[in-house]
Amino acid sequence: MGFRRYGNGIAKGMALTFKHLFRKPITTQYPEERLNVSRRTRGTQIIWNRDTCIACSACARACPIGCIDMSTSRGEDKKLKVDNITIDFGLCIFCGLCVEACPVGNAIFLSYNWEYAEYQRSKLVLSNDELLYSNTKQVSGYYHPDVEKTLPEQTLLVNRTNRGKPWD
Ligand code: SF4
Ligand code: SF4
Repeated sequence: MGFRRYGNGIAKGMALTFKHLFRKPITTQYPEERLNVSRRTRGTQIIWNRDTCIACSACARACPIGCIDMSTSRGEDKKLKVDNITIDFGLCIFCGLCVEACPVGNAIFLSYNWEYAEYQRSKLVLSNDELLYSNTKQVSGYYHPDVEKTLPEQTLLVNRTNRGKPWD
């Protein structure tokens, strides 16, 4: 009676365990192994392009949190220029509204990077040169289809389980 009640269940459980022993693992050994995120990801920083920015402050006005602080002045050529731009990434919710509001189109981006952590809250506040593009800080294709085309395709778990490792 005891075996009939519990034996079948135990046998089924053992069979399932045995089956999984020989399955290809689908876990990722982060940080040695990384999956490609969505090309339109809203990464954990904003990237500013000083060369194309016209200092209109539309991004700062569009921000629902008010975490972009910008001061501008007119240069000798009477054109507006940014004297200081500061973004508080401890407050930013990565909504992308600043990127969408920019009339220039290539002066502000969300980043493709998503690994961003600091031990001190104050280090999440970045200004001027710290907001520029760098080799370790790439721009995301969010709201920028031209950038999206240049980024690697997202690694999908379904590809990994059905067709092997797409990053090999
Ligand atoms: S992503 Fe959103 S919250 Fe962050 S700076 Fe831009 S508008 Fe503000
Ligand atoms: S909206 Fe664009 S052009 Fe205007 S200040 Fe912001 S980044 Fe510069």
